[in-house]
Amino acid sequence: MNKKYTFFIVDDDPLFIQTLTRILTGHGQAICSGAARAEALHEIVERRPDCIILGVTDSDAKGLEFLRRLRNVSELNGTKIVTVFAHPSDQTLQKARAAGADGSIARSVQGDTLIRYLTEIIEGLIRFTFWGVHGTLPVPGRKTARYGGNTPCVSLRLPGDSLFVFDAGTGIKELSNFLASENRPVTHAAILISHPHWDHIHGLPFFGPLYTRGNSLDIFGPPNGSMSLRELIAGQMNGVYFPINIKEFNAKVSFLDLGEEQFDLNGAAVQSIFLNHPGRCLGYRLDWGETSFCYMTDHELYPPSNSLYDEDYVRKLEAFIADADVLITDAAYLDEEYEGKMGWGHSSVSRATELADRAGVKKLFLFHHDLDQTDDDIDAKLEIARAVLEERGSSTVCIAPKEGETFTVQRKNSQE
Ligand SMILES: [Zn+2]
Ligand SMILES: [Zn+2]
Repeated sequence: MNKKYTFFIVDDDPLFIQTLTRILTGHGQAICSGAARAEALHEIVERRPDCIILGVTDSDAKGLEFLRRLRNVSELNGTKIVTVFAHPSDQTLQKARAAGADGSIARSVQGDTLIRYLTEIIEGLIRFTFWGVHGTLPVPGRKTARYGGNTPCVSLRLPGDSLFVFDAGTGIKELSNFLASENRPVTHAAILISHPHWDHIHGLPFFGPLYTRGNSLDIFGPPNGSMSLRELIAGQMNGVYFPINIKEFNAKVSFLDLGEEQFDLNGAAVQSIFLNHPGRCLGYRLDWGETSFCYMTDHELYPPSNSLYDEDYVRKLEAFIADADVLITDAAYLDEEYEGKMGWGHSSVSRATELADRAGVKKLFLFHHDLDQTDDDIDAKLEIARAVLEERGSSTVCIAPKEGETFTVQRKNSQE
């Protein structure tokens, strides 16, 4: 945390208050007080901390009742409340959220992870990380060492506890390792698959949270022909192509077939759109209040001179990503490469950049790099994109994210 915040810790265990106080003060934070629940309310209202950390046992109806009372105190409208559980289940977390918690953590979470988590909640930070940025095939090696050689996977965490994962290329193994190292229970995640081409699902069998009992994961994506998303995923794990079957997922896993739809998911408004790509492929837009995030990969934008160019389709895409804070999009080819790869379902960097500018996107992230491209080629695409934006007098900022790189966007208005 760069800024200094005031915390009030409420817990019936003095040792817990002591431990947490040590961690927070060790990171330069201020503790205004700690108290057992019975004595806390009056003092909290008087001190109006930035954040209340409230210890709750897992089946503690009185703890949630106390949380509701805190949320109803108008003097505490600007105060964030974080609940701390021993082993929170998905259901417990949902109850805490419904009672007014801004986020929840497990008692075992400590140190830097705890501080990062509290920062996300207090500052309303939406954090997203790239775990694989190449398309089609993993391309490890010296020539891709800077940007990384894994296939598509992006994770996004809302300030509360909601985890979204976009695509399950080989990058998802890195995400899986990171989640294990964080010692922060996953319990619930939504995995949004763009389409079932190998590079978007071949990492899924290696996502550890799928095998943990007590977790609940929803996997969304488009069916293809008569095959449901469940059948598409199960197909690559049918014993011939992979030794572990989807029946061995110990988590509660739901598969949900999607078309072009709008629905609410874990605190976000989600929209999906069909993209110009062989087979069925979906782009996603997530909105929280006025903050928006778009993931739109594997789609081909024809140049206006091409007979297949469809202005209506381009306008539809433009409306879908309009004014987005973040757009992660297919910019597979250098402009000169595109000619020879027309019809393969991917875009050149200039076309992708022009679309982002037309739509008023604030930050454009170049994604799904062609398998034959090196780090230097990606640098070249970034230069081209920036030149296109400059020529158009655009305010869009363009970034070529590296594997493992995390970005944040601040939630503009709170939904609470
Ligand atoms: Zn792909
Ligand atoms: Zn594809």
